[in-house]
Amino acid sequence: MLKNRRLRLERFFDTCGVDAILFSNLLNIRYLCGFSGSEGALVLTRDNAWFLCDSRYTTQAGAEVVDAEIRQFTVKLDTVVELATELKLSRIGFESAHTTVGDFKALSDRLAGTELVAVGGDLDLIRSCKDQVEIERLQRVASLASASLQAVLPVMVPGVSEQEVARELEFEMRRRGADGRAFDFIVASGERGAMPHGRASERPLRSGELVTIDFGALRDGYYSDETVTLALGDPGERSREIYGIVRERHDRAITAVRPGIACHEQDAIAGEFMRERGYGEYFGHCLGHGVGLEIHEKPVVSPRSETVVEEGMVFTIEPGIYIPGFGGVRIEDTVVATENGCRLLTQVPKELMVL
Ligand code: ZN
Ligand code: ZN
Repeated sequence: MLKNRRLRLERFFDTCGVDAILFSNLLNIRYLCGFSGSEGALVLTRDNAWFLCDSRYTTQAGAEVVDAEIRQFTVKLDTVVELATELKLSRIGFESAHTTVGDFKALSDRLAGTELVAVGGDLDLIRSCKDQVEIERLQRVASLASASLQAVLPVMVPGVSEQEVARELEFEMRRRGADGRAFDFIVASGERGAMPHGRASERPLRSGELVTIDFGALRDGYYSDETVTLALGDPGERSREIYGIVRERHDRAITAVRPGIACHEQDAIAGEFMRERGYGEYFGHCLGHGVGLEIHEKPVVSPRSETVVEEGMVFTIEPGIYIPGFGGVRIEDTVVATENGCRLLTQVPKELMVL
C-alpha cells in the first residue's frame, strides 16, 4: 500500500533530478510512512526510506512506521546532515511549500556541497487520489458525521442558540467515536446565513428562517465535510427559490464528476446555470476542495483549477448563494470519483428539510 503511494513520487525524482526528497510536512510523512506523531522527518530515495524522530516517538514509530529505517535524533538537523553525508547525496529535494526560510538556510549552511532543490506545491497532489484504505476511512468518518447531524435535528427548535446546536453536534460525534470535530462548525441562521463562514454564535434560531450548518468530524486522521441548509418552519418563497437554485447547481456539478474532466470545466458547467438565473454575483468562493488528511487539500475545484479528475479523487461540491441583509444557502457533499462518475460519501439527503 505505502509502496504504491511512494511510487507517485517517481515523477518528482525525474523532473527535479534529485537523489532523495526530505519531507518535513507531518501529513505527507504520515501518508508515506504511517507515522502519526507531531515531530519527525522522512528521507526517501527511489528505493529506501529513513524516518527520523526524537526519543519521545521511538516506540510509536516502531509500531507505526512501515518500510523505513528508524533513526533517533537529538538535533534533527544533525541527523539529516549525517544521513545525507552517509548516502553521498548530491541533490536533495525539499518541500518548498512546507519549509521555513530559517530551516532552509540552516540546511544549506550545513550541507554546503549538496544542492537543495525546491519541490513545489504540486507535491501535495500525490495525496489527492485516495487508495482503498483511505476511501474506507473517509466513508466511515463521513457516515459518522452525517448520522450525528441527523441525530441532533430534534434539538433544533426556535429559541435554541446556534452555539447550542454546534455543541450538541460535537457531543454526538464524540459519542459515536469521532476523535474530534473537523473545524469550528458553521451554524448560521437567518441573515447570518449571508456569511459563508459564519461560526456558531449566541443568536437564537427563529421560526421561518433558514439555518446553514457546515460540519465535519475527524477520525483515524481523516476528515469529513458536509453542509446542510434547513428551515425551521416555512421559510417563504424567496428562500425556497434560492435553495432550489443552489440545489440545482450542486446536483449538476455532481452529475458532471467523472475521470477525465478538468476541475474548471466542472465548475463552469454548473456556474453558467447560476449566472443565467441572476445569482452569479452572490457566489464568491471555490466550488469545492479535496478532503483527506487535511480538511482543505488538493485538488481545488475552481475556474482556475487545471487539475483533471482521476478515479479515487475525493473532493467537495459546495455551491452557495449569500445575500447580504437577507441570508444564504449552501449545500455541500463530499464525493469520490469512480470509474464512470462519482459516489457520495456524505449522507444527509439534500432536499430542503423543513423542521
Ligand atoms: Zn464544509
Ligand atoms: Zn468544504
